[in-house]
Amino acid sequence: MGMGTIERMDTTLEHPVRLHRAISAASETARWRVEEVQALLDLPFNELLFRAQTVHREHWPAGDIELATLLSVKTGGCPENCGYCPQSAEFDTGVKAQKLMSVEEVTAAAQAARDAGATRFCMGAAWRAPKDRDIERVAELVQAVKGLGLQSCATLGMLEAHQAQALRDAGLDYYNHNLDTAPEYYGDIVDTRTYQDRLDTLAHVRAAGISVCCGGIVGMGEAPVHRAGLLAQLANLDPYPESVPINSLVRVPGTPLADSEPIDPLDFVRVIAVARILMPKARVRLSAGRQQLGEAVQALCFLAGANSIFYGDKLLVTGNPDVEADRQLLARLGLRGHEVAANEGACE
Ligand code: SF4
Repeated sequence: MGMGTIERMDTTLEHPVRLHRAISAASETARWRVEEVQALLDLPFNELLFRAQTVHREHWPAGDIELATLLSVKTGGCPENCGYCPQSAEFDTGVKAQKLMSVEEVTAAAQAARDAGATRFCMGAAWRAPKDRDIERVAELVQAVKGLGLQSCATLGMLEAHQAQALRDAGLDYYNHNLDTAPEYYGDIVDTRTYQDRLDTLAHVRAAGISVCCGGIVGMGEAPVHRAGLLAQLANLDPYPESVPINSLVRVPGTPLADSEPIDPLDFVRVIAVARILMPKARVRLSAGRQQLGEAVQALCFLAGANSIFYGDKLLVTGNPDVEADRQLLARLGLRGHEVAANEGACE
């Protein structure tokens, strides 16, 4: 079921609420073709936002925004060559490699997060694929986080099935692993792993009973069809991810993608809107690159169905001016933020 169905609904269901209930029901069971997703991306802007907002309001409380924060527990020195990433050891970006943090350090950070009202805590580590002994150490971190009564998230790179199970056994609730872009463009972004590697890890995570956080990045020089291809891949995961971070490339000097042509901000809003339509029950998260969009475009993203932001560049740093600006923006828009120290976007 896909765009053809929606077009038929356009002519038979004139009432907007009935129309969009039908769209929502269709997208629950859809396997989306890339051309169908492209047709949604190409809708007149107001029509697309109307559809996305209607789907959004059927599945989520109005004005509810999740505020997600990440702790990097192991930074830099990654052997992968993701063209957007300052943590790759291949690129000279000034990021200093750091070892995995201790249980004590992570526990203290998680405690601070909980004391500030967080209910979920994520740990990001810049590994290609953790070794079993790394998993054992992260499992201790997960248990420490769970011991504080927090939900746990992690993003650690590629996992084997038994590693995903070990993390689940330790109590891990969410795992972030992004598809980045469409399969056809993937080799232009990274060549130290394949798209199938990503899908395999996502399958292991899902099979272990861990909730999936999976999204991508736009503004990496991709063609519009690649954006449609990414969204189709995400929506066709069965089931689709519980969280979908959509990143706008942050062009970090020293990375191969530093000189990429920025995405048209209105095209970014379109990507958010189509993600909302295709995956009605997912948390659609504005992640990396949000600040560079400007406040008006962010407001359009919320209208398009984004209901989570990746916020603060350090865990719960009080007085962080960016965090204060976010709070003020949400207040001006009449949106309610609630804090979740969560993952998503760790690896980009
Ligand atoms: S995105 Fe993740 S896997 Fe890729 S280089 Fe950065 S830390 Fe490594």
